[in-house]
Amino acid sequence: MKKKLSKIMAAVLLVLLCVLLPQTRVCYAEAAVKETTITAENEYMTEAIGEALDGITRGHGGPFGCVIVKDGEIVGRGHNRVLVDKDSTAHGEITAIRNAEKALDNHDLTGCVLYTTGEPCPMCLYAILWANIDKVYYGCTIEDNADIGFRDEVFDKLAGGREALSDFLVCIDRDACLELFKVYSDMEHQTY
Ligand SMILES: [Zn+2]
Repeated sequence: MKKKLSKIMAAVLLVLLCVLLPQTRVCYAEAAVKETTITAENEYMTEAIGEALDGITRGHGGPFGCVIVKDGEIVGRGHNRVLVDKDSTAHGEITAIRNAEKALDNHDLTGCVLYTTGEPCPMCLYAILWANIDKVYYGCTIEDNADIGFRDEVFDKLAGGREALSDFLVCIDRDACLELFKVYSDMEHQTY
């Protein structure tokens, strides 16, 4: 009888701890998201969504997941890590590009296709172009990103014209920098 009572007491204590400790509550929230699976029509988009779910479950950043595919195989993956890395450039696409380039041991992702849960922001779009990725499939649009509080749309409009940014984007010391470019041009180097 005494043993039974102590077991009940232990169970009550455990429940109380779970309710009272904020960390335990976080555990419960994580469990709830972890159980969530979303299946897209496209298998790679399902993977990208899985990446995003993993990221938001761990509190890494926004709901942006990404996979990079070459010849039908996933060669890189990543999700938004802005909050956990304290890195405003750690968007899902950038993280996945870094991951794929390391995996393939190549800065050139020609022949690769990128799947991402949200339409790439200007920074990621241009990173994708720099990486020579063949094609991009995205789920949510820039407007959808804005609807959940991200500034992609604002930045996307800025990209419409650099002249509109003349107060923000100022050219100085062009000659000195051209000198640097000349040093680079004259030396043996690899163009990419
Ligand atoms: Zn981005």
